[in-house]
Amino acid sequence: MVAMQPSDTKQKADGLALAAVQEDVDMARVSWHHMDEAEVLVRAEAELTGLSAQEAGRRLLRDGPNALAAVQSVSWLRKLLLQFVEPLVVVLIAAAVLSVALKDYVDAAVIGAVVVVNAIIGFLQEYRAEQSIAALSRTLVTEATVLRGGVLQRVPSQTLVVGDVVALQSGDTVPADLRLLEVKDLQVEEAALTGESLPVSKATGLVPVDVGLGDRTNLAFAGSAVTFGQARGVVVQIGSATEAGQIGHLMANTVALETPLTKRIAHLSRVLVGVTLAMTAVLLVIQLLRGASLADTVGAAVAFAVGAIPEGLPAAVTILLAVGVSSMASRGAIIRRLPAVETLGSTTVICSDKTGTLTQNQMTVTELWTAAAHYDVSGVGYAPEGQLLAGETAVGRDASAALDTALHIALLCNDSRLVSGEDGLKVEGDPTEAALLVVAGKGGLDAATLATWPRLDVVPFESTYMYMATLHGMPDGAGTVALVKGSSDALLGRCASALGSSGQPVAVDRHAVEQRVEHMAKRGLRVLVVARRVLPADQQTLGHADLQELQLVALIGMIDPPRPEARTAVAACRRAGIAVKMITGDHAVTAAAIADALGLEGDRTGDGRLRAVTGSELAALADDDLPALADSVAVFARVAPEQKLMLVKALQSRGHIVAMTGDGVNDAPALKQADIGVAMGKNGTDVARSAAAMILTDDNFATIANAVEEGRGVYANLVKFIAWTLPTNGGEGVVLLVAVALGTELPVLPVQLLWVNLATAILLGTSLIFEPREPGLMDLPPRSPSAPILDRSLLIRTLLVSLVLGLAAFGFFTLARRLGLSAEQGRTLAINTIVVVEVGYLFACRSLRLPAWRLGFWSNRWMWLGVLAMLLAQLAFTYLPVMNRLFHTAPVDAIWWLALSATGFLVYVLAEVKKLLTAPSAPHKTPSPA
Ligand code: ADP
Ligand code: MG
Repeated sequence: MVAMQPSDTKQKADGLALAAVQEDVDMARVSWHHMDEAEVLVRAEAELTGLSAQEAGRRLLRDGPNALAAVQSVSWLRKLLLQFVEPLVVVLIAAAVLSVALKDYVDAAVIGAVVVVNAIIGFLQEYRAEQSIAALSRTLVTEATVLRGGVLQRVPSQTLVVGDVVALQSGDTVPADLRLLEVKDLQVEEAALTGESLPVSKATGLVPVDVGLGDRTNLAFAGSAVTFGQARGVVVQIGSATEAGQIGHLMANTVALETPLTKRIAHLSRVLVGVTLAMTAVLLVIQLLRGASLADTVGAAVAFAVGAIPEGLPAAVTILLAVGVSSMASRGAIIRRLPAVETLGSTTVICSDKTGTLTQNQMTVTELWTAAAHYDVSGVGYAPEGQLLAGETAVGRDASAALDTALHIALLCNDSRLVSGEDGLKVEGDPTEAALLVVAGKGGLDAATLATWPRLDVVPFESTYMYMATLHGMPDGAGTVALVKGSSDALLGRCASALGSSGQPVAVDRHAVEQRVEHMAKRGLRVLVVARRVLPADQQTLGHADLQELQLVALIGMIDPPRPEARTAVAACRRAGIAVKMITGDHAVTAAAIADALGLEGDRTGDGRLRAVTGSELAALADDDLPALADSVAVFARVAPEQKLMLVKALQSRGHIVAMTGDGVNDAPALKQADIGVAMGKNGTDVARSAAAMILTDDNFATIANAVEEGRGVYANLVKFIAWTLPTNGGEGVVLLVAVALGTELPVLPVQLLWVNLATAILLGTSLIFEPREPGLMDLPPRSPSAPILDRSLLIRTLLVSLVLGLAAFGFFTLARRLGLSAEQGRTLAINTIVVVEVGYLFACRSLRLPAWRLGFWSNRWMWLGVLAMLLAQLAFTYLPVMNRLFHTAPVDAIWWLALSATGFLVYVLAEVKKLLTAPSAPHKTPSPA
């Protein structure tokens, strides 16, 4: 994908102007597709061996980075204005207008100020959330493989320049517009440009000048996905000069802040607004029937509407999700789609790759088996220390012809490289292949061998085929040979003979070989078959059809130890009611052995081992049987990528919320179908990454489990916030209803309610969002996504607290009036009552399950700071003359604060007692068969 440049934002031109510009540009554009290769190289100032590093650096300075300018979809001004059409704000504006009509200019000004402050805060919060999420997505640098100074290397796609020679392989995103020079079965999906949703084949031949983009088959366009094959091409256009850049299509870099949850919350607030307005109407009627003055009637109605609507709610959800995104990022999970944050908390099944995610992807060859002999290999990792051992004695590659050939295949049929970096050897390419390089080295082969066996062609590894083959000229010029390596299932059937110890062909005992594979796999070894076929001397290309009648050379067994942290994470998932399934292309027996070592749970076979179902068994299954099987079996082996999609659907049909990992091109459909598609930041393909909702920076299974925990934490804090915030509105409603029902003067005024709602939401409520994850989140079952946000027990609690709050405020007001205090003083007390009750309840809401003292007294510093600030604010509200004037308040005796504090504390104690009495609510069960 072409990287975005956030810096210079340009406004979208209107359609006409854009079309005109487009035409102009088209005229001036070079017809790279209608040019032979020599001319392309001249015009791009390129060479087949690539640019030198200096030249590339020079052009980068001259032409700038290969990046697109981000386009703003909705302008910030619009977003700011949108804040003013929220239902609550509309109510407030109406109230301000009414106040003006009633000549309450101070009130009108206060309400107006609140409206503006509220809008600015809401806007800033949204802006920050959006920025931080967008910034995270930019940390994912895409890389390209480029030929510089004759050597293939990985560089950030941004640094590509015109004239660079780029290598493409399946899974890559085309990094710039390329004119293809060499093509090997290349298929590219370029729907974004051409609308053609199926992958198209590419070739190198000339194309007529006047064909459309979709028919320019010798070009690969920036942003399209390589779905199959390999190619090399020269960069002819970069950045916004690319076809994609011209259209401005692929630049939707804006983050949608809307998720199912925010929609539900928005719905909830709309319902509350509706209820409030209906009750306001009732209130109006009562007031009018009683013959109250118009001013009083309107005052009560406005107060009620203002008090009962939970203004802070939608913004709080947005901030919470953003906080969740950044805390997940700090634990290695980058969220690409915001809804994933909340969906993670409901995950009931995680389907994970084996290699690299559950295992370390630190392959080491430990065994070699030929038709005549067995060898052990010592040493671990990619370090060159270690030996081949026949029994106890160290041997070299000359021990037998079969061994020698096997090591040659290991070295030659190989696209990986080991490069020494700061922290030891680093693998470039596939770790499986790197392990083969190492074993070849241990046997005495070195890079010099490569030159004597020139590679003529290659059939690249594709997980659909499970093998890779290369065609080589033999050193003596005697002919050509195909060297093949791959899975036993794919290759054993193609072997017609085996290579004997002194180079003679011998018969293959397929049964014995299969038993040997099984024997190795049972110990968790990944087994590769290496084989060869001598071909005619004039053979120049290699295809799948050539890979028949092979000669089996050896079995190579390698270990890939489970990640210790994955074991712990699997256990954590089990406690959390989340099933873990392994889905791998590897051998069934290997997969089951590793799954057992990791502690996976699922159907077992007669001898107590985990049952592994293979892709071919899945294919033979009746559609109706799949869901139950997918649910009960934990290990799926030799699975073709398309079958991952079937498995996701089957699990979803059983009511599961599925997280699925994937790294290959063909995994994209499964990743999209899954509730949470998870791609790998290190080893995966770009295509998988762009299909995923979440990316693991460390490719580690444990990170998924951590993200689930974070997801649960985010949701738990959201529920806490809602549980805390609603009683404020409820309580304010109660005060006013009681007052109107009894026909007394209003105990609280609209501006005062605005003050409380705004101040408490900012100073108190926000701190709940930062409440640290409470312990034990992973000991609960997953939350059902359809479960109501407030369950019954919370709903009852909310109503109770509302009642307490409302009656307490009314009580203090009435008491003060009875004792002869002024109405201003009574209202000051009523408002302060609301605040202290909210403070007491705030502490109780730090956890909805655990008593607050179990959470650590100081563990949420924000809360103490918030409470302190709130106290200062209330002192100002009560004693500062200017505040008295603005909010119609008046100073009260210090003794009242004692009574108020006692009330707040009492509410805290009552809430804790209620927690103790109600058993922890567990409204969600793990899904059962539909
Ligand atoms: P996974 O990553 O789940 O282990 P893959 O699809 O990568 O599965 O590999 C499937 C099988 O293909 C492996 O078990 C192995 O036998 C074979 N294989 C893997 N990598 C290579 C490779 N680079 N060359 C040849 N064969 C390979
Ligand atoms: Mg793999």
